Amino acid sequence: MTVITEASIKELAGFKSADTPVVSCYLDVDGRRHIRAKDYLLELESLKKQLLASHPGQNFDADLALMSDYVATHLDRHGVRGIAMFSCAEKKYWKVIRLPVAVANRLSVNQSPVVGPLEAIVHALEPLGVLLVDRQRARMFIFQFGEVVERTELFEALPREYDRRDDASRGSREREQHHIDELTHQHFRHATEAVFRLYQDKGFGRLTIGATDEVYAAVEHELHPYLRERLAPRLHVPVTANETDIAKAAFGIEQIVELEREQAAVTKLRDAIGAGAKGTAGLGPVLAALNERRVATLLVSNGFEESGWLCSCGALAVKGPKCPLDGEEMERVDDVVSDAVDAALLEGAHVVTCEGNADLDVHGRIGALLRY
Ligand SMILES: [Zn+2]
Repeated sequence: MTVITEASIKELAGFKSADTPVVSCYLDVDGRRHIRAKDYLLELESLKKQLLASHPGQNFDADLALMSDYVATHLDRHGVRGIAMFSCAEKKYWKVIRLPVAVANRLSVNQSPVVGPLEAIVHALEPLGVLLVDRQRARMFIFQFGEVVERTELFEALPREYDRRDDASRGSREREQHHIDELTHQHFRHATEAVFRLYQDKGFGRLTIGATDEVYAAVEHELHPYLRERLAPRLHVPVTANETDIAKAAFGIEQIVELEREQAAVTKLRDAIGAGAKGTAGLGPVLAALNERRVATLLVSNGFEESGWLCSCGALAVKGPKCPLDGEEMERVDDVVSDAVDAALLEGAHVVTCEGNADLDVHGRIGALLRY
């Protein structure tokens, strides 16, 4: 069993098998959608049928049997919403990664494991800080994959005498109001200090705040600059909400943050292409840029697959069989897009896997921001 990290993804991307393909399977086993094991076993069977139909005459019996056996008899779904399995039975290569998030079902073959979807997940793993705050309370959470991993609360009641307002004279009422404002201000400062401590102790990627407009403005003003930089869109739940509703809202924010990250990368790509510098799109030009080791960030539409060619020197191409770098005879590969993701990771580039981004799709479903 492997835990998902950038290092484990790179290790998978580094496994190559030129003669016999590697079968990669992503399966959604989320208990909220699939109550019974039978449900996702049926999904796996249908994926297998599709794979065999699209690869007539090829034999993946041993790999597919290992996968079915694992899913049917060895899978413990505790804390697991998706699994990734990679098999090259011929070479006794077998890896399983249990995922705390759901994945899109996918079964494909290539000369190395298909790791693009894992890249997308590793970014979704970044914890999210949540602060719910009003004039007296502050509740802080850290969420990961829609679940609470850390919580702390702060309650600062106003002095009791402020509840008895009827007998206050006009002058003392003004003084009283001034004092209340000061206490409220102090409470906001305590709340933002507590969030900063949580950030330093536990760490999180982005911070989302749930508050009324007025409170939000005051709290944002008090935030440490590090945290202000990390502000995500606002969370729309009251400070009294139950944890299930907060978790649901936090999960929504996590998805918005990921979409924003993808869109920011695609916008940068579009601008670079428009300016005619440091950007390229379409499978052929992107493979050429990878061959020249010029790629800083590779952007790819999740699910994009295309056959192509791979040279023993590592070069990738849409058309073969002559290597564009050394003129040697290349090997055919089932999914050169997946090889492009591997090459990018091994070259130290970032990979952004986009979910149905129309702007990237018009650019041929793949693009690259270039180092030079
Ligand atoms: Zn070559």
